[in-house]
Amino acid sequence: MPDYSSSYRTLATNVVHAGSPSPRIQGAVVTPLFQSANYLMADESAYDTVRYIRLSNSPSHLGLHARLAAIESGEAALVTASGMAAISAAILAFVGSGEHLLAQRTLYGGTQTFLDQDGPRLDISHTAIDLADPEGPAAWERALRPETRLMLLEAISNPLMEVGDLEAAVDFAKTHDLVTVIDSTFASPVNFRPREIGVDLVVHSATKYLNGHSDIVAGAVIGSAEQIDRIRHLLVHLGGSLDPHACFLFERGLKTLVLRVQRQNETAMRLARYLADRPEVRKVNYPGLEDDPSHAFAARLFSGFGGMLSFYAASAARADRFLDSVRIPLHAPSLGGVESLVVRPSRSSHLGLDEESRQRLGITDDLVRVSVGIEDADELIADFGQALAG
Ligand SMILES: *Cc1c(COP(=O)(O)O)cnc(C)c1O
Repeated sequence: MPDYSSSYRTLATNVVHAGSPSPRIQGAVVTPLFQSANYLMADESAYDTVRYIRLSNSPSHLGLHARLAAIESGEAALVTASGMAAISAAILAFVGSGEHLLAQRTLYGGTQTFLDQDGPRLDISHTAIDLADPEGPAAWERALRPETRLMLLEAISNPLMEVGDLEAAVDFAKTHDLVTVIDSTFASPVNFRPREIGVDLVVHSATKYLNGHSDIVAGAVIGSAEQIDRIRHLLVHLGGSLDPHACFLFERGLKTLVLRVQRQNETAMRLARYLADRPEVRKVNYPGLEDDPSHAFAARLFSGFGGMLSFYAASAARADRFLDSVRIPLHAPSLGGVESLVVRPSRSSHLGLDEESRQRLGITDDLVRVSVGIEDADELIADFGQALAG
């Protein structure tokens, strides 16, 4: 068995090299794709060590786990069949029937509907907490119950790009003995490594920045060896393992993570400033802008502000005209890939909410969300300019 334990000092080196097999398999520079469901028995003494794809222990999995652990400052990691598989398994591993969790107020749609629709059938309840509540921890304390087990956070909210007081939330969770889980998909490890502020478990939709090429659906969870082991045992039963072919593409995409996200940070910052100055734009949501309500927390916690922003085009008709006129970004859901994408959240991710709830949340019909890609920044910004004027 090769050794997968190598890691290096910096993120940029780790995304390329951490967890690579040593010695290299048959001398291959890249970890080969192991597209085999099962392997010959080798005197395994525990079920866990029998080699089978559903147990997430093929060579395609092992190196990727070690690389992700190094990247997110964890002891161990687990890849999953989707971001939702990572989120649901992480929650269900620590919250059981009759138990309760605290969840940040604005969650990814799939996570919210999992808690709202499947939670009650599993007798798992949750209370929303507002990280921007002026009362802070005093307000969160009122939501606590004797059976509260976990606190679920998100690094940057969708689609308004809000960043809360995550350090205060982690301190609160530690005081009350809650497991902390953060969905750090929008931030990516280039901009934020939540384990460094004491978060237990970091989850990602690797479909987005980690893979970065919009060609697989995958997830990841990173944490302590003990906690990841517990999640892995559950995932074996839920069946949400990642196929080796997706592992191979995931590992390939991951190697350029730092280059991609640095470029996306730079272009998004320039685009946010440009849009904020345009008369057609009512308001821009981007934590990198100094006057954004999330700027102070983001500036303290993050090393970059990310490639996601949203803006209000002043009317639904203008938003539609913009989407019709823009040439480079594609009008499509999802995010974090090399190609820029634009979408109207009121017509996509938040279509399930009624009009009044959307208004209350600030997800009005003129809101446009942008996932900035790696195209030429000047050409992209000029394209936004012509589409706004059009
Ligand atoms: C896309 C996304 C998910 C879900 O990930 P899938 O890979 O689609 O299952 C979860 N959280 C966030 C923040 C996302 O953007």
